[in-house]
Amino acid sequence: MVKNEDLLASVSDVSTDSEFFSPIPAGYKKGRAKYCFVMGTVMSGLGKGIFSSCLAKLMQDKGLKVTPIKLEGYLNVDSGTLNPFRHGEVFVLDDGMECDMDLGTYERMLDQNLSKANFATSGQIFSSVLNKERHGDYLGRDVQMIPHVTGEVKLKLRELAMSSGADIVFVEIGGTVGDLENAYFIEAMRELAYEEGPNSCCFVALTYILEPKALGEQKSKAAQLGIKQLMQLGVQPDIIACRAGSAVTEKVRQKISVYSNVPLDRVISMEDSASIYMIPATIAEAGLDFKVARLLKIEDRINLRYERKASAKWCDFTDKIGTAKRDVTIGITGKYTSVRDSYASIINALEHAGIALGAHVHIKWIETTGVTDGNAADELADVDGIIVPGGFGTRGAEGKIACIRYAREHDLPYLGLCFGFQMAVIEFARNVCGLAKANSTEIEPECPEPVIDVLPEQKKIEGLGGNMRLGGKDIELKPKTIAWELFDKAKSVRMRFRHRYEVDPRYIERLEHAGMVFSGKAPNQPIMQILELQSHPFFMGTQAHPCLTSRPLRPQPMFVGLVAAAMQRRCPDKKLPGCVKAVQKVCAQGS
Ligand code: GLN
Repeated sequence: MVKNEDLLASVSDVSTDSEFFSPIPAGYKKGRAKYCFVMGTVMSGLGKGIFSSCLAKLMQDKGLKVTPIKLEGYLNVDSGTLNPFRHGEVFVLDDGMECDMDLGTYERMLDQNLSKANFATSGQIFSSVLNKERHGDYLGRDVQMIPHVTGEVKLKLRELAMSSGADIVFVEIGGTVGDLENAYFIEAMRELAYEEGPNSCCFVALTYILEPKALGEQKSKAAQLGIKQLMQLGVQPDIIACRAGSAVTEKVRQKISVYSNVPLDRVISMEDSASIYMIPATIAEAGLDFKVARLLKIEDRINLRYERKASAKWCDFTDKIGTAKRDVTIGITGKYTSVRDSYASIINALEHAGIALGAHVHIKWIETTGVTDGNAADELADVDGIIVPGGFGTRGAEGKIACIRYAREHDLPYLGLCFGFQMAVIEFARNVCGLAKANSTEIEPECPEPVIDVLPEQKKIEGLGGNMRLGGKDIELKPKTIAWELFDKAKSVRMRFRHRYEVDPRYIERLEHAGMVFSGKAPNQPIMQILELQSHPFFMGTQAHPCLTSRPLRPQPMFVGLVAAAMQRRCPDKKLPGCVKAVQKVCAQGS
């Protein structure tokens, strides 16, 4: 009988005589890493990323090392050019990779910094195969979807398993089973499971249970058909998670179990949850974490003492959800105001700050195309603080500047993120420094006072494509500033960037002279990264996107500062701690 080991050895030999082709990274040890595949049936938008990250979190809390990867079917090489309207926000990783917003969910849930190894698109996979073909790496063979493209997918997963040293690699397959564009990913998973052998892989299918209003009962047929489609691809699910508006009945679960060869206790109900941070508890209640451990024969790697501590810490956090005694409203100005996914990280960062401070943060979306100095007071009458988030282009920019002016002149707490930082500089230059024609060359290319202009370093690479300043960068903090206090008097902090324009260094002195404090700068370069006004209760802007690094147990200090200042404004007589004190209190607890 051919042993699985022999198969792995033989498939790694590239030979023109053999049909086997499955490149294995040097030093790869089969059985060390296990794989958990999460895929969706029936429809998209089931929250595969959320489910997968919550399950991964439970395994991580058992002392296991986990790493996620999202496989995307589209042909773009990264997500940099995707319109957030269509695909949700572009999430930027520390290494500069522009990726799907699901990576943000993983980073937040696992409190881990991920890298480009955790994200693959069909565009990446195909370009890598085509490059190899040009290099003659396939030894004259005809290059095929199977085994070469599937081989590339398996190689990527095994490389991630090795580089991360993970006990479990969580693989989320984008799209829905039945899509043409992700079918080869599923095929690659099937091959990988066979090559790795029994108890090395676990397949989780997410499905959706319909409950048509006219019938008033849950119907399982669509789910059954979706799972059947998966089985037709040669994949037997081990676990089926049924998404639904309300708890899935035992009868429906039984039907699905009969249809799919999955025992009833592994067909679980995953009804909608008020907060995604409650989902790990739902999964644990169904005992799914231990079932996965058993399926993967990994129980001996579990550290129960570690788990007790980790879960106590997590429960302290989730216990606070929904118990807030105060309300605040933060206005967010934005171009994509109708699509919440475009601002997912900001919404999350506000939620983290609110939970830590005991405030329920309401969001008011403000469309700024019609906002002027004349009506800003009305638009902002019912908000306790305001955020101008990242953005590109000219639409609504003047309205944002009007909102910022109102916030500055009326002590309304303000946080400007990237574009919002740049707009705050323009507003200050115009209305405080007397540079009436100040603008950004992004908005007005021939502007006479270009206080915001293309970065000198980016100008050099202009025209080569990919000319954004991307990824994690250190910010040097200026001692004795509010930012320095918020970050616990650290010398520097690290945040993530995605921009092309910056404060033109020729204007720095004039802005500072008029009272703008640049409290964070790039080390060894005149790039301004944080600004503040010290005479204001909270007026801060940053060229970075601090929302990308806010985590549930480690809320981002600028967001905590904003929400604390907004709470104070809402109840001026309550004597709540000022923004710096509030940050010191909650951020020290989280660390
Ligand atoms: N459009 C601005 C720039 O390129 C801001 C970018 C952003 O907000 N992410 O610099």
